[in-house]
Amino acid sequence: MSFSSLGLSEQLVRATADQGYETPSPIQQQAIPAVLSGKDVMAAAQTGTGKTAGFTLPLLQRLAEKPRTGKGPRALILAPTRELAAQVHDSVHLYSRYVPTKAAVVFGGVKINPQMMKLRKGLDVLVATPGRLLDLYQQNAVRFDEVEILVLDEADRMLDMGFIRDIRKILGMLPAKRQNLLFSATFSNEIRSLAQGLLDNPVQVEVAARNTTAEKVKQSVYPVDQSQKTALLSKLVRDNNWEQVLVFTRTKHGANRLTQKLEKDGITAAAIHGNKSQGARTRALANFKAGEVRVLVATDIAARGLDIKQLPQVVNFELPNVPEDYVHRIGRTGRAGESGHALSLVSADEGKQLAGIEKLIKKQLPRREVEGFEPKNNLPLKPKAKADPSKARNSKPQGGKGRSFGPKPSGRNGGGRGRSGGQGGNRGQGGRSAQRTG
Ligand code: AMP
Repeated sequence: MSFSSLGLSEQLVRATADQGYETPSPIQQQAIPAVLSGKDVMAAAQTGTGKTAGFTLPLLQRLAEKPRTGKGPRALILAPTRELAAQVHDSVHLYSRYVPTKAAVVFGGVKINPQMMKLRKGLDVLVATPGRLLDLYQQNAVRFDEVEILVLDEADRMLDMGFIRDIRKILGMLPAKRQNLLFSATFSNEIRSLAQGLLDNPVQVEVAARNTTAEKVKQSVYPVDQSQKTALLSKLVRDNNWEQVLVFTRTKHGANRLTQKLEKDGITAAAIHGNKSQGARTRALANFKAGEVRVLVATDIAARGLDIKQLPQVVNFELPNVPEDYVHRIGRTGRAGESGHALSLVSADEGKQLAGIEKLIKKQLPRREVEGFEPKNNLPLKPKAKADPSKARNSKPQGGKGRSFGPKPSGRNGGGRGRSGGQGGNRGQGGRSAQRTG
Protein backbone atom coordinates (compact mmCIF):
# COMPACT_ATOMS: atom_id res chain seq x y z
CA MET A 1 0.00 0.00 0.00
CA SER A 2 1.44 3.37 -1.02
CA PHE A 3 0.20 6.95 -1.09
CA SER A 4 0.03 6.93 -4.88
CA SER A 5 -2.07 3.75 -4.93
CA LEU A 6 -4.66 5.67 -2.90
CA GLY A 7 -5.09 8.03 -5.86
CA LEU A 8 -2.96 10.94 -4.69
CA SER A 9 -1.12 13.02 -7.24
CA GLU A 10 2.61 12.89 -7.71
CA GLN A 11 3.04 16.32 -6.06
CA LEU A 12 1.27 15.23 -2.91
CA VAL A 13 3.05 11.88 -2.79
CA ARG A 14 6.33 13.76 -3.04
CA ALA A 15 5.34 15.93 -0.07
CA THR A 16 4.65 12.83 2.07
CA ALA A 17 8.00 11.38 1.04
CA ASP A 18 9.65 14.62 2.18
CA GLN A 19 8.16 13.98 5.61
CA GLY A 20 9.61 10.49 5.64
CA TYR A 21 6.24 8.74 5.54
CA GLU A 22 6.64 5.34 3.93
CA THR A 23 3.16 3.90 4.07
CA PRO A 24 -0.23 5.46 4.70
CA SER A 25 -1.53 4.89 8.22
CA PRO A 26 -4.80 2.90 8.57
CA ILE A 27 -6.92 6.04 8.83
CA GLN A 28 -5.23 7.47 5.75
CA GLN A 29 -5.86 4.27 3.81
CA GLN A 30 -9.56 4.63 4.44
CA ALA A 31 -10.05 8.38 4.52
CA ILE A 32 -7.99 9.45 1.50
CA PRO A 33 -9.97 7.55 -1.19
CA ALA A 34 -13.25 8.50 0.51
CA VAL A 35 -12.43 12.21 0.52
CA LEU A 36 -11.09 12.05 -3.04
CA SER A 37 -14.41 10.55 -4.17
CA GLY A 38 -16.11 13.76 -3.04
CA LYS A 39 -18.30 12.04 -0.46
CA ASP A 40 -18.97 13.22 3.08
CA VAL A 41 -16.88 11.40 5.67
CA MET A 42 -17.41 10.65 9.33
CA ALA A 43 -14.19 9.42 10.89
CA ALA A 44 -13.54 8.09 14.37
CA ALA A 45 -9.90 8.85 14.83
CA GLN A 46 -7.78 9.82 17.75
CA THR A 47 -4.92 12.16 17.57
CA GLY A 48 -1.69 10.39 16.71
CA THR A 49 -3.29 8.23 14.02
CA GLY A 50 -2.21 10.48 11.15
CA LYS A 51 -5.72 11.86 10.75
CA THR A 52 -4.52 15.34 9.76
CA ALA A 53 -2.82 14.05 6.62
CA GLY A 54 -5.86 11.79 6.17
CA PHE A 55 -8.05 14.78 5.37
CA THR A 56 -5.46 17.36 4.29
CA LEU A 57 -3.87 15.42 1.43
CA PRO A 58 -7.08 14.57 -0.46
CA LEU A 59 -8.51 18.01 0.30
CA LEU A 60 -5.47 19.62 -1.33
CA GLN A 61 -5.83 17.36 -4.31
CA ARG A 62 -9.48 18.26 -4.80
CA LEU A 63 -8.66 21.95 -4.60
CA ALA A 64 -5.79 21.56 -7.05
CA GLU A 65 -8.16 20.07 -9.64
CA LYS A 66 -9.48 23.52 -10.45
CA PRO A 67 -7.99 26.93 -9.77
CA ARG A 68 -9.46 29.48 -7.39
CA THR A 69 -11.50 32.18 -9.09
CA GLY A 70 -12.32 34.47 -6.14
CA LYS A 71 -10.68 35.20 -2.81
CA GLY A 72 -11.74 32.01 -1.11
CA PRO A 73 -11.56 30.26 1.22
CA ARG A 74 -12.57 27.11 -0.64
CA ALA A 75 -11.82 24.78 2.24
CA LEU A 76 -12.58 25.62 5.85
CA ILE A 77 -11.03 23.58 8.64
CA LEU A 78 -12.41 24.23 12.12
CA ALA A 79 -10.38 23.18 15.14
CA PRO A 80 -11.11 23.60 18.86
CA THR A 81 -7.86 25.15 20.08
CA ARG A 82 -5.25 27.58 18.88
CA GLU A 83 -2.56 24.95 19.16
CA LEU A 84 -4.46 22.42 17.08
CA ALA A 85 -5.33 25.06 14.49
CA ALA A 86 -1.65 26.07 14.24
CA GLN A 87 -0.66 22.44 14.03
CA VAL A 88 -3.12 21.67 11.23
CA HIS A 89 -2.02 24.76 9.37
CA ASP A 90 1.61 23.61 9.62
CA SER A 91 0.55 20.28 8.10
CA VAL A 92 -1.35 21.99 5.29
CA HIS A 93 1.72 24.07 4.63
CA LEU A 94 4.01 21.04 4.52
CA TYR A 95 1.77 18.91 2.33
CA SER A 96 0.99 21.74 -0.12
CA ARG A 97 4.58 22.61 -0.98
CA TYR A 98 4.27 21.26 -4.54
CA VAL A 99 0.72 22.45 -5.27
CA PRO A 100 -0.32 26.08 -5.81
CA THR A 101 -2.53 26.25 -2.74
CA LYS A 102 -2.55 29.15 -0.34
CA ALA A 103 -3.47 28.59 3.29
CA ALA A 104 -3.81 30.65 6.45
CA VAL A 105 -4.72 30.12 10.06
CA VAL A 106 -6.77 32.37 12.33
CA PHE A 107 -7.38 32.03 16.07
CA GLY A 108 -8.09 34.21 19.06
CA GLY A 109 -5.64 35.57 21.60
CA VAL A 110 -3.60 37.44 19.01
CA LYS A 111 -4.21 40.64 17.00
CA ILE A 112 -7.01 40.40 14.46
CA ASN A 113 -5.64 42.94 11.95
CA PRO A 114 -2.83 40.84 10.46
CA GLN A 115 -5.36 38.04 10.02
CA MET A 116 -7.67 40.41 8.14
CA MET A 117 -4.82 41.39 5.87
CA LYS A 118 -4.05 37.76 5.07
CA LEU A 119 -7.68 37.06 4.25
CA ARG A 120 -7.88 40.08 1.98
CA LYS A 121 -5.09 38.72 -0.18
CA GLY A 122 -7.08 35.60 -1.01
CA LEU A 123 -6.52 32.00 -0.03
CA ASP A 124 -7.68 28.44 -0.64
CA VAL A 125 -7.56 26.82 2.79
CA LEU A 126 -8.50 28.54 6.03
CA VAL A 127 -7.85 26.85 9.34
CA ALA A 128 -9.73 28.52 12.18
CA THR A 129 -11.02 28.32 15.70
CA PRO A 130 -14.77 29.03 15.67
CA GLY A 131 -14.84 32.17 17.85
CA ARG A 132 -12.24 34.12 15.90
CA LEU A 133 -13.74 33.03 12.60
CA LEU A 134 -17.08 34.51 13.62
CA ASP A 135 -15.39 37.73 14.73
CA LEU A 136 -13.73 38.00 11.33
CA TYR A 137 -17.00 37.27 9.58
CA GLN A 138 -18.80 39.95 11.58
CA GLN A 139 -16.14 42.42 10.56
CA ASN A 140 -16.61 41.48 6.90
CA ALA A 141 -13.08 40.14 6.68
CA VAL A 142 -14.13 36.73 5.37
CA ARG A 143 -16.89 35.36 3.17
CA PHE A 144 -18.06 31.81 2.91
CA ASP A 145 -19.70 31.71 -0.51
CA GLU A 146 -16.84 29.81 -2.11
CA VAL A 147 -16.51 27.11 0.56
CA GLU A 148 -16.55 23.70 -1.13
CA ILE A 149 -15.15 21.60 1.69
CA LEU A 150 -15.73 21.84 5.43
CA VAL A 151 -13.67 19.90 7.98
CA LEU A 152 -14.59 19.69 11.65
CA ASP A 153 -11.49 18.43 13.39
CA GLU A 154 -11.73 17.02 16.92
CA ALA A 155 -15.44 17.72 16.85
CA ASP A 156 -15.96 16.09 20.25
CA ARG A 157 -13.61 18.56 21.84
CA MET A 158 -15.29 21.47 20.12
CA LEU A 159 -18.57 20.45 21.71
CA ASP A 160 -16.90 19.92 25.10
CA MET A 161 -15.57 23.43 24.91
CA GLY A 162 -19.01 24.86 24.30
CA PHE A 163 -18.54 25.74 20.63
CA ILE A 164 -21.74 24.12 19.41
CA ARG A 165 -23.60 27.41 18.94
CA ASP A 166 -20.69 28.98 17.09
CA ILE A 167 -20.44 25.91 14.88
CA ARG A 168 -24.13 25.91 14.08
CA LYS A 169 -23.93 29.61 13.23
CA ILE A 170 -21.04 28.99 10.86
CA LEU A 171 -22.80 26.01 9.27
CA GLY A 172 -25.80 28.20 8.60
CA MET A 173 -23.66 30.61 6.59
CA LEU A 174 -21.96 28.08 4.31
CA PRO A 175 -23.15 27.20 0.82
CA ALA A 176 -25.54 24.24 0.97
CA LYS A 177 -23.65 22.28 -1.66
CA ARG A 178 -20.33 21.25 -0.17
CA GLN A 179 -18.35 18.28 1.06
CA ASN A 180 -18.30 17.74 4.82
CA LEU A 181 -15.69 15.84 6.81
CA LEU A 182 -16.15 15.21 10.50
CA PHE A 183 -13.32 13.87 12.64
CA SER A 184 -13.85 12.97 16.25
CA ALA A 185 -12.08 10.79 18.80
CA THR A 186 -15.33 9.76 20.44
CA PHE A 187 -18.92 9.59 19.27
CA SER A 188 -21.33 10.82 21.91
CA ASN A 189 -25.02 11.26 21.17
CA GLU A 190 -24.37 14.97 20.78
CA ILE A 191 -21.78 14.32 18.06
CA ARG A 192 -24.11 11.91 16.32
CA SER A 193 -26.88 14.46 16.28
CA LEU A 194 -24.48 17.08 14.87
CA ALA A 195 -23.35 14.56 12.25
CA GLN A 196 -26.93 13.76 11.30
CA GLY A 197 -27.72 17.35 10.43
CA LEU A 198 -24.40 17.91 8.72
CA LEU A 199 -23.42 14.83 6.75
CA ASP A 200 -25.10 13.44 3.68
CA ASN A 201 -24.82 9.66 3.46
CA PRO A 202 -21.28 9.71 4.84
CA VAL A 203 -18.56 7.14 4.35
CA GLN A 204 -17.77 5.91 7.86
CA VAL A 205 -14.14 5.47 8.74
CA GLU A 206 -13.02 3.89 11.97
CA VAL A 207 -9.55 2.66 12.70
CA ALA A 208 -9.33 1.71 16.32
CA ALA A 209 -12.25 0.57 18.39
CA ARG A 210 -13.84 3.48 20.13
CA ASN A 211 -12.02 4.62 23.22
CA THR A 212 -9.33 1.99 23.17
CA THR A 213 -5.93 3.24 24.07
CA ALA A 214 -3.03 2.95 21.70
CA GLU A 215 -1.59 -0.55 21.94
CA LYS A 216 1.91 0.78 21.74
CA VAL A 217 1.53 2.79 24.91
CA LYS A 218 2.62 1.10 28.12
CA GLN A 219 0.48 2.29 30.94
CA SER A 220 0.89 2.04 34.68
CA VAL A 221 -0.47 3.45 37.88
CA TYR A 222 1.71 4.62 40.75
CA PRO A 223 -0.32 4.69 43.95
CA VAL A 224 0.96 7.59 46.06
CA ASP A 225 -0.37 10.08 48.59
CA GLN A 226 -1.32 13.46 47.19
CA SER A 227 1.28 15.22 49.35
CA GLN A 228 4.07 13.06 47.93
CA LYS A 229 3.28 13.46 44.24
CA THR A 230 5.70 16.26 43.44
CA ALA A 231 8.59 14.53 45.21
CA LEU A 232 7.81 11.27 43.42
CA LEU A 233 7.64 13.01 40.06
CA SER A 234 11.03 14.64 40.65
CA LYS A 235 12.49 11.29 41.62
CA LEU A 236 11.07 9.55 38.54
CA VAL A 237 12.37 12.28 36.22
CA ARG A 238 15.84 12.00 37.74
CA ASP A 239 16.08 8.23 38.26
CA ASN A 240 14.89 7.51 34.72
CA ASN A 241 16.81 10.36 33.13
CA TRP A 242 13.68 11.55 31.37
CA GLU A 243 14.62 14.42 29.12
CA GLN A 244 11.14 15.18 27.76
CA VAL A 245 8.08 14.58 29.85
CA LEU A 246 4.59 15.93 29.31
CA VAL A 247 2.78 16.18 32.64
CA PHE A 248 -0.96 16.72 32.98
CA THR A 249 -2.66 18.54 35.80
CA ARG A 250 -6.35 19.15 36.21
CA THR A 251 -6.18 22.90 36.73
CA LYS A 252 -4.21 25.90 35.55
CA HIS A 253 -3.22 26.74 39.12
CA GLY A 254 -2.09 23.18 39.65
CA ALA A 255 0.04 23.47 36.51
CA ASN A 256 1.65 26.70 37.74
CA ARG A 257 2.26 25.33 41.23
CA LEU A 258 3.84 22.15 39.97
CA THR A 259 6.03 24.03 37.50
CA GLN A 260 7.35 26.25 40.28
CA LYS A 261 8.04 23.32 42.59
CA LEU A 262 9.92 21.41 39.90
CA GLU A 263 11.99 24.47 39.06
CA LYS A 264 12.83 24.88 42.76
CA ASP A 265 13.89 21.28 42.73
CA GLY A 266 16.31 21.97 39.88
CA ILE A 267 14.25 20.44 37.07
CA THR A 268 13.54 22.78 34.15
CA ALA A 269 9.79 23.06 33.62
CA ALA A 270 7.23 25.23 31.85
CA ALA A 271 3.46 25.43 32.04
CA ILE A 272 1.08 25.66 29.12
CA HIS A 273 -2.55 26.57 29.72
CA GLY A 274 -5.28 28.95 28.74
CA ASN A 275 -4.27 31.80 31.06
CA LYS A 276 -0.95 32.11 29.30
CA SER A 277 -0.67 34.41 26.33
CA GLN A 278 -0.32 32.80 22.92
CA GLY A 279 3.29 33.98 22.82
CA ALA A 280 4.09 32.35 26.17
CA ARG A 281 2.49 29.09 25.09
CA THR A 282 4.34 29.01 21.80
CA ARG A 283 7.60 29.78 23.59
CA ALA A 284 7.07 27.08 26.22
CA LEU A 285 6.36 24.53 23.51
CA ALA A 286 9.36 25.59 21.43
CA ASN A 287 11.68 25.36 24.45
CA PHE A 288 10.29 21.94 25.27
CA LYS A 289 10.73 20.72 21.71
CA ALA A 290 14.27 22.10 21.63
CA GLY A 291 15.10 20.14 24.78
CA GLU A 292 15.71 23.26 26.88
CA VAL A 293 12.81 22.43 29.15
CA ARG A 294 12.55 18.91 30.53
CA VAL A 295 9.01 18.98 31.82
CA LEU A 296 6.05 20.57 30.10
CA VAL A 297 3.08 20.84 32.45
CA ALA A 298 -0.25 21.16 30.68
CA THR A 299 -3.97 21.19 31.29
CA ASP A 300 -6.14 18.97 29.11
CA ILE A 301 -7.48 21.62 26.82
CA ALA A 302 -4.12 23.32 26.33
CA ALA A 303 -2.62 19.99 25.38
CA ARG A 304 -5.11 19.27 22.62
CA GLY A 305 -3.40 19.46 19.29
CA LEU A 306 0.14 19.51 20.63
CA ASP A 307 2.16 17.43 18.27
CA ILE A 308 5.49 16.62 19.72
CA LYS A 309 7.28 13.98 17.76
CA GLN A 310 8.26 10.77 19.54
CA LEU A 311 7.29 11.95 22.96
CA PRO A 312 8.40 9.01 25.09
CA GLN A 313 6.80 9.88 28.38
CA VAL A 314 3.47 11.19 29.58
CA VAL A 315 2.63 11.56 33.26
CA ASN A 316 -0.80 12.13 34.72
CA PHE A 317 -0.03 14.12 37.85
CA GLU A 318 -3.75 13.97 38.51
CA LEU A 319 -6.32 11.85 36.75
CA PRO A 320 -8.84 13.72 34.62
CA ASN A 321 -12.47 13.87 35.76
CA VAL A 322 -13.65 12.79 32.33
CA PRO A 323 -12.35 9.30 31.44
CA GLU A 324 -12.14 10.12 27.73
CA ASP A 325 -9.54 12.77 28.55
CA TYR A 326 -7.26 9.99 29.79
CA VAL A 327 -7.35 8.50 26.30
CA HIS A 328 -6.53 11.88 24.76
CA ARG A 329 -3.72 12.45 27.22
CA ILE A 330 -1.96 9.19 26.62
CA GLY A 331 -2.44 9.70 22.88
CA ARG A 332 0.39 12.23 23.29
CA THR A 333 2.86 9.39 23.56
CA GLY A 334 3.39 6.44 21.27
CA ARG A 335 2.33 8.55 18.30
CA ALA A 336 2.27 7.14 14.76
CA GLY A 337 3.70 3.79 15.73
CA GLU A 338 6.31 4.92 18.25
CA SER A 339 6.20 3.22 21.61
CA GLY A 340 5.64 5.32 24.67
CA HIS A 341 4.94 5.13 28.36
CA ALA A 342 2.07 6.79 30.18
CA LEU A 343 2.05 6.65 33.94
CA SER A 344 -0.42 8.02 36.40
CA LEU A 345 0.26 9.18 39.95
CA VAL A 346 -2.94 8.22 41.69
CA SER A 347 -3.93 9.12 45.25
CA ALA A 348 -6.69 7.51 47.31
CA ASP A 349 -9.15 10.30 46.53
CA GLU A 350 -8.91 9.50 42.81
CA GLY A 351 -10.25 5.94 43.06
CA LYS A 352 -13.45 6.95 41.35
CA GLN A 353 -11.65 8.51 38.36
CA LEU A 354 -9.39 5.48 38.04
CA ALA A 355 -12.38 3.13 38.03
CA GLY A 356 -14.01 5.22 35.31
CA ILE A 357 -10.88 5.09 33.16
CA GLU A 358 -10.37 1.35 33.56
CA LYS A 359 -13.99 0.76 32.67
CA LEU A 360 -13.69 2.89 29.54
CA ILE A 361 -10.47 1.30 28.29
CA LYS A 362 -11.65 -2.14 29.39
CA LYS A 363 -8.52 -3.12 31.21
CA GLN A 364 -6.94 -2.80 34.56
CA LEU A 365 -3.72 -0.89 34.69
CA PRO A 366 -0.79 -2.47 36.50
CA ARG A 367 0.10 -0.84 39.84
CA ARG A 368 3.64 -0.09 40.82
CA GLU A 369 4.78 1.25 44.14
CA VAL A 370 8.04 3.07 44.63
CA GLU A 371 10.01 2.45 47.81
CA GLY A 372 9.69 5.35 50.18
CA PHE A 373 6.51 6.53 48.46
CA GLU A 374 4.10 3.79 49.50
CA PRO A 375 0.78 5.54 50.13
CA LYS A 376 -0.60 5.75 53.66
CA ASN A 377 -4.04 5.82 52.10
CA ASN A 378 -4.53 2.95 49.69
CA LEU A 379 -6.61 3.15 46.58
CA PRO A 380 -10.10 1.97 47.53
CA LEU A 381 -11.26 -1.53 46.76
CA LYS A 382 -14.29 -2.08 44.62
CA PRO A 383 -17.33 -2.53 46.93
CA LYS A 384 -17.77 -6.29 47.26
CA ALA A 385 -21.55 -6.25 47.05
CA LYS A 386 -21.46 -4.92 43.51
CA ALA A 387 -18.97 -7.45 42.19
CA ASP A 388 -20.19 -9.61 39.35
CA PRO A 389 -18.57 -13.03 39.83
CA SER A 390 -18.78 -13.88 36.12
CA LYS A 391 -16.70 -10.80 35.34
CA ALA A 392 -14.31 -11.03 38.24
CA ARG A 393 -12.08 -13.49 36.44
CA ASN A 394 -11.59 -11.15 33.54
CA SER A 395 -10.74 -8.18 35.63
CA LYS A 396 -7.51 -9.41 37.13
CA PRO A 397 -4.75 -6.89 37.16
CA GLN A 398 -2.49 -7.31 34.18
CA GLY A 399 0.66 -7.09 36.18
CA GLY A 400 2.42 -10.17 35.02
CA LYS A 401 0.68 -12.48 32.61
CA GLY A 402 -0.68 -12.15 29.15
CA ARG A 403 -0.83 -8.88 27.31
CA SER A 404 0.84 -6.64 29.81
CA PHE A 405 0.98 -2.93 29.18
CA GLY A 406 3.17 -2.07 32.08
CA PRO A 407 6.60 -2.98 33.30
CA LYS A 408 6.58 -6.45 34.86
CA PRO A 409 6.15 -6.34 38.61
CA SER A 410 9.50 -6.69 40.16
CA GLY A 411 10.86 -6.87 43.68
CA ARG A 412 10.78 -3.58 45.40
CA ASN A 413 8.50 -1.85 43.05
CA GLY A 414 5.76 -4.28 43.93
CA GLY A 415 3.38 -4.08 41.04
CA GLY A 416 0.26 -5.98 40.36
CA ARG A 417 -1.21 -5.20 43.71
CA GLY A 418 -4.45 -4.93 41.89
CA ARG A 419 -6.20 -2.98 44.58
CA SER A 420 -8.18 -0.96 42.21
CA GLY A 421 -11.66 0.31 41.93
CA GLY A 422 -11.84 -2.32 39.22
CA GLN A 423 -14.28 -2.68 36.44
CA GLY A 424 -17.92 -2.04 36.73
CA GLY A 425 -17.44 0.28 39.68
CA ASN A 426 -18.10 3.95 39.69
CA ARG A 427 -17.86 5.56 36.34
CA GLY A 428 -16.24 8.65 37.69
CA GLN A 429 -17.90 10.77 35.05
CA GLY A 430 -17.46 14.15 36.53
CA GLY A 431 -19.85 15.42 33.92
CA ARG A 432 -18.53 16.99 30.78
CA SER A 433 -17.68 20.52 31.51
CA ALA A 434 -18.43 23.18 28.99
CA GLN A 435 -15.85 25.48 30.48
CA ARG A 436 -12.86 26.56 28.52
CA THR A 437 -10.47 25.71 31.24
CA GLY A 438 -7.18 25.35 29.47
P1 AMP B 1 -1.99 13.33 13.62
O1 AMP B 1 -2.76 12.14 14.13
O2 AMP B 1 -2.56 13.85 12.39
O3 AMP B 1 -1.84 14.36 14.71
O4 AMP B 1 -0.51 12.82 13.23
C1 AMP B 1 0.37 12.29 14.18
C2 AMP B 1 1.81 12.26 13.69
O5 AMP B 1 1.99 11.23 12.72
C3 AMP B 1 2.32 13.52 13.03
O6 AMP B 1 3.56 13.81 13.62
C4 AMP B 1 2.51 13.18 11.58
O7 AMP B 1 3.60 13.88 11.03
C5 AMP B 1 2.78 11.69 11.63
N1 AMP B 1 2.32 10.95 10.44
C6 AMP B 1 1.19 11.17 9.73
N2 AMP B 1 1.07 10.28 8.73
C7 AMP B 1 2.14 9.45 8.79
C8 AMP B 1 2.57 8.32 8.04
N3 AMP B 1 1.86 7.85 7.01
N4 AMP B 1 3.71 7.74 8.40
C9 AMP B 1 4.43 8.20 9.46
N5 AMP B 1 4.08 9.26 10.22
C10 AMP B 1 2.93 9.89 9.91
